[in-house]
Amino acid sequence: MSSPLPESSAADPLEPVRAALFHRIGADGVYARTGLYEDVLQRLTAFITRERDPRAEVLRFPPVMSRSQLEKSGYLKSFPNLLGCVCALHGTEAEVRAAADSHESGGDWTRSLAPSDLVLSPAACYPVYPLAAERGRLPQDGWIFDVAADCFRREPSRALDRLQSFRMREFVRIGSPEAIQAFREEWMSRAQRLAGELALPCQLDVASDPFFGRVGQIMAVSQRQQSLKFELLIPYHDGAKPTACMSFNYHRDHFGITWGIEGGDGAPAHTSCVAFGMDRLVVALFCVHGLDPTRWPASARSALGL
Ligand code: ATP
Ligand code: ZN
Ligand code: MG
Repeated sequence: MSSPLPESSAADPLEPVRAALFHRIGADGVYARTGLYEDVLQRLTAFITRERDPRAEVLRFPPVMSRSQLEKSGYLKSFPNLLGCVCALHGTEAEVRAAADSHESGGDWTRSLAPSDLVLSPAACYPVYPLAAERGRLPQDGWIFDVAADCFRREPSRALDRLQSFRMREFVRIGSPEAIQAFREEWMSRAQRLAGELALPCQLDVASDPFFGRVGQIMAVSQRQQSLKFELLIPYHDGAKPTACMSFNYHRDHFGITWGIEGGDGAPAHTSCVAFGMDRLVVALFCVHGLDPTRWPASARSALGL
């Protein structure tokens, strides 16, 4: 999705929102968040928790994950341009010292960096599939997880809805094709009800992932044709191109095959994830309802305990 917001701050109707919620800390799409913002984010987090299936197992992931796990997941085929890899100075004390000191003498210390075994997590759900696979064959009812992580995607932008570092919460379902489809259907209608409670205008639409390159365009067409991805879209202001604030993804047996997750019948499990773009949702609340949460619509205040 391209930026729905003007890049020039002079023309940006959302500039007051930006000023109240974020402080610049030296890079586009990487911000210090204000107390006003974090308070609403925590309330929204609690609101989503109340919607959690009681069977869900809670896991909170760090902002980094195993590079080999992400490679095995197929991420490099689809989104190589978005991935951030953790690099560090390796070697003897003398080698590390020399590389670091080269900075003081005007040199480029980053030329001595070498990749580590970690990448920055581009989505919250990737680590859950290998973890579930280790548990052996699925129980009758499959699994449901509540996961979250700080995510990174290399897509620098000045737009308020496209951050490089953002928070993602997901409900992940692993089970039979029937259970997975029922889960996703249920969440697609429930999400619209939740947006209604938050008094946010929204629309649900079929979508595709921003697959990289020309081959990626073909992948995106096929994903749309099979309706594998839907998004909940919210316009930040009248006439704005709506922003995808949630996504509903059906991976079919991709992760089941990749990680050897077996269903009760021995066939590869199917998986689905419902993702909440926490930062996008909070920005939407402030853009649509204004900067004073005590004056937000009653149903939104009640949902968020304001
Ligand atoms: P987009 O269509 O905007 O590029 P996406 O389709 O790549 O997003 P998903 O991979 O489905 O997004 O990620 C789940 C959710 O995470 C999105 O619906 C969105 O709310 C949020 N998200 C994704 N990328 C960003 C970003 N750069 N900044 C803030 N939130 C994001
Ligand atoms: Zn996911
Ligand atoms: Mg999208």
